[in-house]
Amino acid sequence: MKTKIQYLIDEIESEYKYTGGMTGKYTLDPKVKTAMINVPRDKFVPKTHVDSAFYNGPLPIGHGQTISQPYIVALMTDLLELETGDVVLEIGTGSGYQAAILSLLCKQVYTIEYVPELADIVAARLNKLGYDNIETKSGNGFDGWPDHAPYDGIIVTAAATRIPEPLIEQLRPGGRMVIPLGKPYSYQELTLVRKNEDGKLDIRDILGVAFVPFQGERDED
Ligand code: SAH
Repeated sequence: MKTKIQYLIDEIESEYKYTGGMTGKYTLDPKVKTAMINVPRDKFVPKTHVDSAFYNGPLPIGHGQTISQPYIVALMTDLLELETGDVVLEIGTGSGYQAAILSLLCKQVYTIEYVPELADIVAARLNKLGYDNIETKSGNGFDGWPDHAPYDGIIVTAAATRIPEPLIEQLRPGGRMVIPLGKPYSYQELTLVRKNEDGKLDIRDILGVAFVPFQGERDED
């Protein structure tokens, strides 16, 4: 009999197939697949939603925020093309699920959450579940986390109107950033940003998506 997680993986793989023309990713990377199988999504959703934990959809986690759709988590992880020695920065910890997936594919994850209550819940959760290569903090991810920069990969899981300049600065030349860009509650484009060795950015639209808004964007001029 197929398990719930196998059903979910099958759905992600079929979604990969019919979005491959846009995303350039037709098949789920085997390492990302293993990480998706090994992180228990039911431990990252509120008790009231445990029965839906293995559906391929977003779920509410309180404070108006959501845990992202598993297909999107897989795709964003895949687009980072991580190596085992990489250091990754995530903006928008939310439930901690995306951070947990990343932690199985790289050396260290740093993750920032804007809502202090969510940051507290997630720190306790990740500790209890034994993810010891994830460091969390509460704050405005617009500023990044300069102490541990540069990052091999940066992932933003809230929709910003533009790429925050500090995040570009904190991305290592040769590194990759995945970020949804667009207006709040309107059309957003999942965007892949590659920083070339000479510091130039190569920016590519991947897919239309719907993320909660990025809070506290600062003016840049
Ligand atoms: N990656 C999460 C998805 C969280 S939803 C998961 O796997 O569950 C997006 C999260 O981004 C929300 O929790 C929201 O509070 C947070 N967020 C929004 N703006 C932010 C900012 N400027 N800095 C850090 N976190 C932010």
